[in-house]
Amino acid sequence: MTSDSSHNSRTATNGGALVLVATPIGNLGDMSQRAVDALKEAEIICCEDTRHSGKLLSHFGVSGKKLIVINEHTEYDAREEIVGLVASGKSVALITDAGTPGISDPGERLVVAVVNAGLKVSAIPGPSALTMALVTSGLPTSRFVFEGFLPRSGAERTERLAMATTESRTTIYYEAPHRLIKTLSDLTTACGAVRRVVIARELTKLHEEIWRGTLQDANMHFSETEPRGEFVIILEPAKPPAPPTNDELLDAIRAEIAKGVSRKDSAARVSARFGVAKRTVYELALQLRDDTESST
Ligand code: SAM
Repeated sequence: MTSDSSHNSRTATNGGALVLVATPIGNLGDMSQRAVDALKEAEIICCEDTRHSGKLLSHFGVSGKKLIVINEHTEYDAREEIVGLVASGKSVALITDAGTPGISDPGERLVVAVVNAGLKVSAIPGPSALTMALVTSGLPTSRFVFEGFLPRSGAERTERLAMATTESRTTIYYEAPHRLIKTLSDLTTACGAVRRVVIARELTKLHEEIWRGTLQDANMHFSETEPRGEFVIILEPAKPPAPPTNDELLDAIRAEIAKGVSRKDSAARVSARFGVAKRTVYELALQLRDDTESST
C-alpha cells in the first residue's frame, strides 16, 4: 500500500499536484464551492476545449490562468507537458467538457501518466453522468459494470455486446445520439427483446428524461424521432439460468453410469457441470439405484 504524505493538505493544490475538478453535466447550479476554489487556486488549468471551458470559467469568475488543451488531438504532447509542470511544483487543475475528469475522457490516461511519474493526484468530486444515471435507473446499484462507449464496429464490438448477454451486474454505456438506435438494436439482438433498459437523457438539463422499458420498446420509442442530446444506457443484469430439474440431473447421472463411471464419480461430474451441490446429486444417484433395484 502506498500513501501520500500531503494527502491532508487543505485543497491539495499547494505544491505540485494534478487536481481533477468535476464540473456540471448540464446545470451550472451543480458546480461546488470547492471546485470554484480549486480552479481559482490552480496555476494552470487543462481543458478539452478552451471555448467551452472558457464560458464556465468566466461564469465562476476564474480568470488569468494559463490554459492547456488536452483532447484526442493534443493528448500525447499535452500529457508530457503536464507531467513536467506537476513535477516542477505547479498546481495543475484538469476540467473536461462535463462531469468528472477521467470518466471516458483524456483525463484517464493523464492520471496514469502522473501517477506513474510518482506525482500527486487529487480530486474535487462532483457530478458524473455515470453515477446520476445509475442511481436514478431503479436497476440494481450494488454491483455494476461501466462499459463507457462501445467500440463502433468489428470483432471488439461483437465481443463486448456478447458480454452483456450473460452479465450478472447492471451495465452502463455512454452513447452518442446518432449511434443510440444502432446500439439499442444490437443490444436487443444480444440480450433479447424483454431485457429491461433505462435510457437517461439530458441529465440535469431542461429536457431531462429517464425512460424505462424493455429493449424492444426502447427501439420503437427512440426510433420515432431522431434522438437528440446526451444519453446513458443502463441495462438490467441478465437473469441467472434456471437451475436444472431433477429429471435433467438424473438423465446426466444415467449417461455417466452408462459410460462405466462409478455412481460416486458420476455424481461429482454432474455436480461440477451443473453447479449443483455434490451431496444433492449424490442423493439423486442413490435414488436411481433404489429405483433400479426396486424395478428388478
Ligand atoms: N466525464 C463525463 C462524466 O463524468 O460523465 C463523461 C464524458 S463522455 C466524453 C460524454 C458522455 O457522457 C456523453 O456522450 C453521454 O453519454 C454522457 N453524458 C454527459 N453528460 C450527460 C448528460 N447531461 N445526460 C446524459 N448523458 C450525459
